[in-house]
Amino acid sequence: MNKVCFVSIDVERSVENLDKILDIFKKYNLPATLFTTGYVLERYPERVLSWSRDFEIACHTFTHRYWDTISQEERETELEKFNKLYGQMFNRKPAGFRVPSHIIDESGLKLLENKGFLYDSSIVPHYPPFKRYRGYQGKAPLVPYYPDEQNCRQKGKMRILEIPAAGGLFGLPLVGVWIIKLPFFIFKISLGIYQPPFITLSMHPWDNLKTRFLRNLERMVKLLKSKNYQFANGREIYASISKNK
Ligand SMILES: [Zn+2]
Repeated sequence: MNKVCFVSIDVERSVENLDKILDIFKKYNLPATLFTTGYVLERYPERVLSWSRDFEIACHTFTHRYWDTISQEERETELEKFNKLYGQMFNRKPAGFRVPSHIIDESGLKLLENKGFLYDSSIVPHYPPFKRYRGYQGKAPLVPYYPDEQNCRQKGKMRILEIPAAGGLFGLPLVGVWIIKLPFFIFKISLGIYQPPFITLSMHPWDNLKTRFLRNLERMVKLLKSKNYQFANGREIYASISKNK
């Protein structure tokens, strides 16, 4: 693969604001992974089914509780509940997972592996500029990798693929909040200077409550296209990497 942009949305609430974002993705023919909670699956099954016609639906836990505040057993119960509901809707297992607030650890990844998840996308691999972020827990590879059992921020031999939430120059994150807050030329300059081989574009439905968000998102998509990024969802990234393993 050449330069790849992983497109994802975390869907835990504000679902009524999602469709306008997806319209932009459809307009530019972008694949995306929607990390969706079990609650959303349970409460909005028709919406989820309609999203699934164009986009990948993956797991964002059942209740959106942070994994550093619950036991391994509770994590397991959440995944089982999610997978059961997902199975009823789609007749298969979800391939991907993202933990709430990006706080993952080795035992969490091991659990995901045992539950048959093919990839995780929780790790924030570099220090995000502008503010302290509790999801950042140390440096990690900036491209998808198989983690080490003892240290999930290093390459190793686990079967689950980690697709890190990698940003641009100096870790500049291509996430909703900064797409809203930063003047767009900063992204333009940054991606003009340096185009990382792998980058993630991620957001939440509620980002769309700010009027400038959709406009800037569209500019971002055009900018990434002009830099020859190939857009992919998690399943596609997993498929291309596992094939070449
Ligand atoms: Zn979330």
